[in-house]
Amino acid sequence: MIRKVGFVGLGIMGKPMARNLQKAGFELHIWARHSEEVQDLVAGGMAWHESLADLAASVDAQITIVGFPPDVEQVYLEKGGILESAKPGTYVIDMTTSSPTLAQKIEAAATARGLHALDAPVTGGDTGARNGTLSIMAGGAEEDFEACLPLFKAMGTSISYMGGPGFGQHTKMANQIMIAGAIAGVCEGLSYAQAKGIELQKIFDAVKEGSAAGTQLSGYAPRIIKDDWAPGFKIEHFVKDLRIARREAESEHLDLDMMRQVLQNYENLILRGMGANGTQALIKFYESGD
Ligand code: NAP
Repeated sequence: MIRKVGFVGLGIMGKPMARNLQKAGFELHIWARHSEEVQDLVAGGMAWHESLADLAASVDAQITIVGFPPDVEQVYLEKGGILESAKPGTYVIDMTTSSPTLAQKIEAAATARGLHALDAPVTGGDTGARNGTLSIMAGGAEEDFEACLPLFKAMGTSISYMGGPGFGQHTKMANQIMIAGAIAGVCEGLSYAQAKGIELQKIFDAVKEGSAAGTQLSGYAPRIIKDDWAPGFKIEHFVKDLRIARREAESEHLDLDMMRQVLQNYENLILRGMGANGTQALIKFYESGD
């Protein structure tokens, strides 16, 4: 039975996910590179550990949702990392959006050490993380997925088993490709309306319940209208995802035009120093007339 849960990657997504696990009755144990960033969680009763190794050795299940694939490699595979430190039988669950190939590598190394590894990325954004309404898509052994269901149910409402190791990440890649078209559509539509002199609030109110409705429109148009570029989802993370998706598509000789174009537009924004902005800042690409 899973009672003690370790959590690493307490950022925009991880903090509310850890809080929801705690609310569901799990005992939360945490470590972070910058302890000052998680004092609120410690004050809220989560147990602080001085090192990742100490944390991973102390829990029944270890969850991570860090930034990029090199961060995932570091926390799992490096010396003093999770695989070296966790007790046999521990569930290790990476919820970062990361490479399917890396997920397979971690699963193989984890299995060799008697650990149970799942890749279980999420979608639903910062709002879904706060409300406990994430969609979670998991890859790995089905019995491990079943054992971890109480954890997933504390963080999400749509929980899917997608197949063997890496298939959570493949599902997430398909999701990111869909989002690329949706956010670009929202930003292009709003840019068109603006160019024709229609107020953004007015166009949003007119279309938000019609056929263009969706989470990219409802989640991000209000932020665009308020000139709010703070990240719910960072551009640099989305570019990371689309680069992984492009590589995986190319390995199947699949040419995904729309995704390539959206990726290029976001890469342009990174070159202009906007990588830490939220993905809604894609509208600036069109405003600049690039
Ligand atoms: P974030 O706010 O940047 O949080 C990432 C957290 O991970 C930070 O607390 C960071 O700590 C920690 N971290 C990163 N690398 C680490 C390492 N090597 N060792 C220890 N801690 C490390 O990012 P986020 O928006 O929560 O996203 C996290 C992941 O979820 C990304 O892969 C993202 O693509 C994915 N995701 C995000 C969303 C969203 O809407 N935001 C939705 C679905 C999936 P430091 O403070 O020390 O850097």
